[in-house]
Amino acid sequence: MTEPTRDQPVLVLNAGSSSLKYQLVVPESGEVRAGGIVERIGEAGSDVADHSAALQAMTTRLHADGVDLDEVPLRAVGHRVVHGGPDFSEPVIIDDAVLERIRALSALAPLHNPAAVIGIEAARQHYDVPHVAVFDTAFFSTLPDAASTYAVPRDLAAKHSIRRYGFHGTSHQFVAQATADLLGRPLAELRQVILHLGNGCSASAVRGGRAVETSMGLTPLQGLVMGTRSGDVDPGLHAYLAREAGMTLDEIDTLLNKRSGVLGLSGVNDFRELVQRVDAGEQDASLAFDVFVHRLKHYVGAYLAILGGADVLVFTAGIGQHSAPVRAAVADGLGELGITVDAHLNASGSSQARVISPDGSRVVVAVVPTNEELAIARQTADLVG
Ligand code: ADP
Repeated sequence: MTEPTRDQPVLVLNAGSSSLKYQLVVPESGEVRAGGIVERIGEAGSDVADHSAALQAMTTRLHADGVDLDEVPLRAVGHRVVHGGPDFSEPVIIDDAVLERIRALSALAPLHNPAAVIGIEAARQHYDVPHVAVFDTAFFSTLPDAASTYAVPRDLAAKHSIRRYGFHGTSHQFVAQATADLLGRPLAELRQVILHLGNGCSASAVRGGRAVETSMGLTPLQGLVMGTRSGDVDPGLHAYLAREAGMTLDEIDTLLNKRSGVLGLSGVNDFRELVQRVDAGEQDASLAFDVFVHRLKHYVGAYLAILGGADVLVFTAGIGQHSAPVRAAVADGLGELGITVDAHLNASGSSQARVISPDGSRVVVAVVPTNEELAIARQTADLVG
């Protein structure tokens, strides 16, 4: 194998149970050579039988985009893995033993880790380069015990690895650094509250570049209201629904993960459509918007208390980057806490990282685009050298 050169790309793969997202990224420059998604893997009537076929389909599409992986040799493949459990607090080079450990964590992430394992197995057969796993939970392995521990019996928690793990860590970590870069201040000095608002939503409190709190927990269901996930509910709800509505645990799990959140309240899960309906005066949509924002404020307040005040409040991901009404609503009424948003700056449609609070604000409010693929590519490249 020839020595990697600096313009050799990393292939970033994000394998779901029926989809494979891919991006070919040059880590140093951030140049994206190609990217896309292969969907409907293994579904009835689909041409893509399994993840190995999905990689073939990807190769064909890359070819059509003018990228021949044989001519532009890969430096490495970086795999997004949702759950690193208690085992993985950093990216790792994948060997057979690592793969088995990721597989063994499937109990903690039954919707996600099995798909990642299948994707990794297929990709290792296709590409004879180093493969790296980058975990969504890793950034939150630094949570203090007081934050990561659920108040359930300790022996049970130890036996079943029950703790708050947190997710979207790759994004929160990337955005924490990008925000420090935007402000021109050392990461080590900053207390940040970061709101990652995409289809999944999570908040984090980051002190000096280390995560000290986050809203997601054992699973990505806890915390903020999301597109289809309820976020926080009374833990007693499960028993109540089982008794009163005769629902099974699987039904309740599906209800809270797939049919709740903004979708359950308003009938739509796409935030653009929600905002249109709010503007059209639909009451269900307005309530969904208000519940979404109320929960966000709840966490912003909590994290100001956890951090003892913040230097910066950051919005990222689809909704965070693009929805001025959400940002305005979250900041509304928080002037006493040092948080205000300048209406004009907030309304700018810029896709760049930017500050949206008035000059001299006690807490800087910023919009900072996330880029999980680039973060995975960089962590992969750092590890393989
Ligand atoms: P994922 O979590 O799948 O990576 P994204 O970060 O792309 O998702 O976020 C998707 C969400 O962002 C969707 O709810 C989408 O409606 C919302 N979104 C995207 N663009 C806008 C916009 N211009 N205004 C409001 N919401 C937006």
